[in-house]
Amino acid sequence: RGYAAACVGALAAAQASLHGAEERLGRMDAIAGDGDHGRGMVRGVDAAAAAATAAYGLGAGAGDVLAAAGDAWADKAGGTSGVLWGAGLRAFGETVGNTTVPGSSELAAGVAAFADRIVELGKAEIGDKTMVDALLPFTSFLSSQVAQGTAPEDAWAAAAREAAAAAEATAQLLPLKGRARPLAEKSLGTADPGATSLAMVFGVMGPHFA
Ligand code: ADP
Ligand code: MG
Ligand code: MG
Repeated sequence: RGYAAACVGALAAAQASLHGAEERLGRMDAIAGDGDHGRGMVRGVDAAAAAATAAYGLGAGAGDVLAAAGDAWADKAGGTSGVLWGAGLRAFGETVGNTTVPGSSELAAGVAAFADRIVELGKAEIGDKTMVDALLPFTSFLSSQVAQGTAPEDAWAAAAREAAAAAEATAQLLPLKGRARPLAEKSLGTADPGATSLAMVFGVMGPHFA
């Protein structure tokens, strides 16, 4: 049950940070997209946090808590990012499972499953100016730190710094996927909203998940 509580805590932390960033993420998405990224992430994380709390209250383990959270996120968020976040969380839950407190390598495998599912569904590649530009550096940095024997919380924090830098670096890219593509040039100089929110959320989830 210990890790199920951690998952509920991670989602509450994500919820607080997304509420604080809602307006800023919306403005970023309005430059070349449709401006709903802040709203969508807030709707998704609110539904996910509520579903996680309800599942936890019924005695669910971490895997089932995360699967319920993911399904609620995908269902309520609307938009591309909501579908991807929801499916990713479910994959994370399926990988870490219910019974054990995950060690570093299970944690890295859970994050890898989150990323694999998102790439599989969205088919974005590095450099397309999407959330994947922050997610893949996070994932590979976490795996390599864990392989070197770094403590999970330190590995996660280092990977989160890497993701934040990668998200900022998307400012110089042109979007090749998603709704921002038709107005791609307008987005030059602004970071991708989905990469920005992903780096932020992973940053605040770390102390709970790792
Ligand atoms: P929508 O674009 O449907 O309005 P959001 O505004 O919530 O949804 O999310 C936009 C973000 O989704 C983008 O900033 C980008 O990071 C991400 N995104 C868009 N298309 C893809 C894709 N094919 N794969 C991965 N991420 C994507
Ligand atoms: Mg949008
Ligand atoms: Mg939209």
